[in-house]
Amino acid sequence: MYKAFLIKYAEIAIKGKNRHLFEDALVHQIKIALKPVEGEFLISKEQGRIYIEALTDYDYEETVEQLRHVFGIVGICPVVLTEDEGFEKLCEDVIAYLDARYSDKNKTFKVNARRARKDYPMESMEINAELGGRILDAFPEMKVDVHHPDIMVNIEIRGRINIYSEIIPGPGGMPVGTNGKAMLLLSGGIDSPVAGYMIAKRGVKIDATYFHAPPYTSERAKQKVVDLAKIVARYTGPIYLKVVNFTDIQLYIYEKCPHEELTIIMRRYMMRIAEHFARETGSLGLITGESIGQVASQTMHSLAATNEVCTLPVYRPLIGFDKQEIISVSEKIGTYETSILPYEDCCTIFVAKHPVTKPNLNIIRRSEEKLKEKIDQLVKEAIDSVETIVVEA
Ligand code: ATP
Ligand code: MG
Repeated sequence: MYKAFLIKYAEIAIKGKNRHLFEDALVHQIKIALKPVEGEFLISKEQGRIYIEALTDYDYEETVEQLRHVFGIVGICPVVLTEDEGFEKLCEDVIAYLDARYSDKNKTFKVNARRARKDYPMESMEINAELGGRILDAFPEMKVDVHHPDIMVNIEIRGRINIYSEIIPGPGGMPVGTNGKAMLLLSGGIDSPVAGYMIAKRGVKIDATYFHAPPYTSERAKQKVVDLAKIVARYTGPIYLKVVNFTDIQLYIYEKCPHEELTIIMRRYMMRIAEHFARETGSLGLITGESIGQVASQTMHSLAATNEVCTLPVYRPLIGFDKQEIISVSEKIGTYETSILPYEDCCTIFVAKHPVTKPNLNIIRRSEEKLKEKIDQLVKEAIDSVETIVVEA
């Protein structure tokens, strides 16, 4: 029954020129999101509003589902747009709308009129009262409830008149592309896809790096990471995923360094390599799924040791989250089921029984000295042999 959507976004904090950039980026992201949907759409900006109008038949459910993945959208309102042909016509349109939308009329309602255009001959309060009366006349089963109505009949008098009563929540945040780009260290776990989602939600475009260790980790473990990137890409747009072969570096560290320091040293090399790709491709920071104290490599001491090798800022959006909180987000965004599939991770394979929880930086640096003969060459080979996969939703 709907031919158009009114898109609500949080505009309060965005002023001046930035607002245009925000709106243009949002329109761009909406276009990308609607590309796979059958049907043709016209997307337009009008006085702090974005409208999506269907020019052909289209799939309503699929359209809403796609829009629910666009950061920056706060509310998706299926709307009836009519020309202003006088108050009588408006009453008819609203009554026809309610009749079509709500087959069960045993409902309470409230009319909420707003005039964005002050030349309309009636004031908002007058419209509320008069239109409310007409609705009661047309549908005697309906009742007014001004505090908790079942149906909020929103009437906005703008260039055209907007009639809507449903607001489907969007994901909020800011449109991807309004805040630069960052490199996500993406593993097959629960945390890193959530971390990527959270940073992308603030308008940041995401690239990703995955370290695998064939034959210790399988092709299916890699496929799992690609699958996770695919789910995250529904929100972020295409993700350029760098797949790095980490086996030789890992074996070399295993051979030369104390095993309880292995995870920290490995982590430091992951950060160095991810940072190399970040710089090469214009990312302004790194993202990890770390959270304080979750495992030995994420104590405050360990995080400091890992962080030391990075010159770009490292964003850790889950730093203060409990595991259960992270799981809740991963369920909400749809990555959880894939994350818990039981494939091996390159870190778990070489993991020590008793990893250090308070690594001493001087000791770690000294251990890394033992790698100096071959490590630069191995890092170079890992970088040179990287495989880049463009992951699309
Ligand atoms: P996750 O659920 O994200 O795997 P985790 O609890 O398993 O997290 P760790 O294995 O200690 O934590 O990894 C911490 C962070 O380091 C991850 O969130 C991720 O950002 C990064 N990371 C770990 N392993 C890899 C990998 N194989 N490839 C890329 N990044 C990785
Ligand atoms: Mg992991």
